[in-house]
Amino acid sequence: MSYADASAKNNSAQSILNAVRRSYPVTRLELSEMTELSIPSVSRILSRLFEEGYLEEVSSTSGGLGRKTKLITLKDRCVLTAGTEYDGESLKVSIIDEKGRIVTFKTYDTKRLEKEPRAVCEIIYDKIRNLFHDEKINIERLFGIGISLPGIINNESGEVMFSAQLGWKNVKLQSIMEEVSGINCVIDNDIKSAAYAEYNKGVAKNSKISVLLYFGTGLGSAVIIDGNVLRGVTNSAGELGHITQDISGILCTCGKIGCMQTNIAKKFILEEAGKFSDVKTVGELLDVSRAGEKWAERIVNRFVTYAALAVDTAVCAYNPDTVIFCGDLINDTPELYDEICKVYYNNYICEYLRDTFEIKQSTFEGNASIVGIGMLAAEKFFKTV
Ligand SMILES: [Zn+2]
Repeated sequence: MSYADASAKNNSAQSILNAVRRSYPVTRLELSEMTELSIPSVSRILSRLFEEGYLEEVSSTSGGLGRKTKLITLKDRCVLTAGTEYDGESLKVSIIDEKGRIVTFKTYDTKRLEKEPRAVCEIIYDKIRNLFHDEKINIERLFGIGISLPGIINNESGEVMFSAQLGWKNVKLQSIMEEVSGINCVIDNDIKSAAYAEYNKGVAKNSKISVLLYFGTGLGSAVIIDGNVLRGVTNSAGELGHITQDISGILCTCGKIGCMQTNIAKKFILEEAGKFSDVKTVGELLDVSRAGEKWAERIVNRFVTYAALAVDTAVCAYNPDTVIFCGDLINDTPELYDEICKVYYNNYICEYLRDTFEIKQSTFEGNASIVGIGMLAAEKFFKTV
């Protein structure tokens, strides 16, 4: 077989696999229509993919006549990847299956551990192996590793360009991880990974344009258009948190004064609160505010107002159909979600944009990044089948 023939054969197998991944369960006829391959060709390639363990045929009773239809679907656990998230302080490691479902995950405190990139990769790989061992799954079933991180990440070259949280600059993390593990790796920004998961498995499914807003240690944001993450020239598109909002404001972690996130991030809210009291969490601050302490009420109101302005910026900049709220501030104190929406709709919405979009809360409970990066690792693997 010539190289061209072999490559055409692989392309057909990939088209079929990807069609099944998009629309499972499907019939042979539907596959033939989706891939523009003849039914005999579809059947021939399917035999190979059944044999290799990627797909399987299941029977389903359809219609009123009780006739059995043969449907093609992805075989359970045919491709497992490790979706991980690392921000210096903690590491989350998971096993993600071919349908983007979490098989299992664990979170580790990494504050005291080594922060040098190779050592971090060794720790991550070690935790992945432990997870497979604990779940009694053979590590040979691991087909890709995904690492999501805070910062400016070049997902194509696999390089961390700059990460203030990690203190890394121009780190070729993807190839370091591949050297350490011998397994294909992908890396991406944590918020962009989360947006990818929201589009494929979450509240942004079928959305044309969505903006994800992460309220937590900072204000993270990402934009997804027709299923593709908007990246910009240097992977910085959609970073609303660093739009300058207050020229005489607080110094941001990026080195600028008065970035939008300095009025919204947990770190800055708790620093403000610390001037009056020793509250440790935003939940405690809300309790103090409800108890009638004026200073606490003002900090909460200011947060809610600036968060509403972040929604306004997202909506005016991208005209989305969906705005997604996520992040620990929203997960831990869900009442803030209602408050932000109320203030936004009462005071800041552009009237001509009312009813053109929905604000939704992520349903991943803080796990969107590991799901997204695990799915991206699977995506890379499926290109090699
Ligand atoms: Zn900034």
